[in-house]
Amino acid sequence: QLDARLPASDIPEFNRLSHSFNSMAASLEGVERRRRELVSDLSHELRTPLTIMRGYLEELSSGEFEPTPEIYQRLVRETKRLERLVNDLQELSKAEAGYLPIDLQPINLRPLLESLVEKFADQLLEEGPTLRLECPPQLSLVRADLDRTEQVLVNLIGNAIRYTPEGAIVIRVWMETNKLWIAVIDTGIGMTPEDLPHVFERFFRADRSRTRNSGGTGIGLAISQRLIELQGGQIEVESQLGQGSTFRFFLPVVRENY
Ligand code: ADP
Repeated sequence: QLDARLPASDIPEFNRLSHSFNSMAASLEGVERRRRELVSDLSHELRTPLTIMRGYLEELSSGEFEPTPEIYQRLVRETKRLERLVNDLQELSKAEAGYLPIDLQPINLRPLLESLVEKFADQLLEEGPTLRLECPPQLSLVRADLDRTEQVLVNLIGNAIRYTPEGAIVIRVWMETNKLWIAVIDTGIGMTPEDLPHVFERFFRADRSRTRNSGGTGIGLAISQRLIELQGGQIEVESQLGQGSTFRFFLPVVRENY
């Protein structure tokens, strides 16, 4: 009963200090918990392709199985997954530490958007979703890194296609005071209100079994969020299960006298 021995006038100060120590301890616990989760997620993500590869290699080395092209293709696919995971992780850790070089320049995003839509539209299959760009002919310049913005758009459009078995994907661009907004709107599988707050967390996947087959790593959106914030923008999501998702972000518009 420490506070019983304190002069009455010191008790509020003591309570304030003890409250702030408690909240510091709680936040350190949170950091430690997230670190443990990260290591456990990471081990899991690395183990899956390794287990598959080991299985195939053991079969091949036993000499009982014919080394078919399919087995080699599977091995290549899993190796690529490991490679992508390691690359994504490296990018993410650089972004989190603030070490990702960002080259901010005044850029017009319209040509980038047009070429991306063209590139993705070429890959779309007959039965898959459609993709279209809605963009005003004249765009204000934004202060951004062209390659990093492309990286974010590739991630968002790739996800929209991946999670929209059929329907329409629209990339909509509009201006607001000092901000240029870009939204990737899909009519795909959507997400539950419980999943939504976690989409920008690393390794988050709304439906693990399904998204694993899609070859994703669950890191793309975490990187995208960092990249947009490093450029002075912000990214948001809205989604309804079975209805579709909208990911939108803004980048700061270059001031007139820039
Ligand atoms: P992944 O490589 O797994 O796609 P992301 O970080 O890009 O990783 O996305 C994280 C998770 O968020 C996905 O696994 C998926 O569950 C969900 N998600 C992302 N984009 C969409 C979308 N357009 N529609 C539905 N779910 C999505």
